[in-house]
Amino acid sequence: MTTRPTVLITGASSGIGAVYAERFAQRGHDLVLVARDLARLHTLAARLSGEHGVAIDVLQADLTQLGDLAIVEARLREDASIGILINNAGAAQSGSFIEQSTDSVAHLVALNTTALVRLASAIAPRLATAGNGAIVNIGSVVGLAPELGMSVYGATKAFALFLSQGLSLELGPKGVYVQAVLPAATRTEIWDRAGIDINSLPEIMEVGDLVDAALIGFDRRESVTIPPLQEGERWHALQAARLGLMSQIKQSSVAQRYQSPE
Ligand code: NAP
Repeated sequence: MTTRPTVLITGASSGIGAVYAERFAQRGHDLVLVARDLARLHTLAARLSGEHGVAIDVLQADLTQLGDLAIVEARLREDASIGILINNAGAAQSGSFIEQSTDSVAHLVALNTTALVRLASAIAPRLATAGNGAIVNIGSVVGLAPELGMSVYGATKAFALFLSQGLSLELGPKGVYVQAVLPAATRTEIWDRAGIDINSLPEIMEVGDLVDAALIGFDRRESVTIPPLQEGERWHALQAARLGLMSQIKQSSVAQRYQSPE
């Protein structure tokens, strides 16, 4: 692999993915941009290749469709120039669980989790064999907080975080860097697409600030990057508490409080 691997970015037609594309082009990486809106991808690719002199390929894919996914997966498996996957495509959903249709929650899960893990699975063996490369999964702080009232979206983002942490432990020793990025509310089209009025949000981060912070975390090889978290120590305290809990889990003995019905 060259010192500047090609970067494949899903959901590159707008928002966070489009800014990732811009920043990696600025850094001199060739790109593969993936989304459904081919016209937007071509417009972005033409601008970035003109401004930064990098080679940009576009792939039209609806990542909820297994046939489309298979094409992206094959590219990740076979194209040895691709060394970085930005698993960014995703959507949100308005309404409470009982207001959301079964099909719509399944669609969200397919995009935010199935596509994410399939693409990671497609590239990981090749990167592990090469002994380098990176997988970045875009989660959300919503995945830390069921209290925010976005149960299915939050669950998909908890999946992205857990998967990233697990893959970081599995693949890190093989030379593959895995990062979870957890934005909070960020100014992109996701709100409009989900039918949520962006002006109803008390605070919002600008998308360029979010991606620049995520890339500082990337360059530092952080396993979890939470740009809006003000005191980074809080995250480390949460992980220490979780590991403390694990040390209390005994495989063979039921806890004292369940040893009698009283
Ligand atoms: P966005 O501007 O709506 O971008 C979403 C991207 O995903 C678009 O490029 C869209 O492109 C693509 N996409 C949507 N459905 C797709 C499908 N079925 N197949 C392929 N591509 C699809 O929103 P964003 O905020 O940048 O979202 C990017 C990621 O950040 C998501 O994973 C989101 O959950 C996460 N995030 C966002 C926020 C926030 O407040 N903005 C906060 C936390 C996490 P096409 O429509 O062209 O397919």
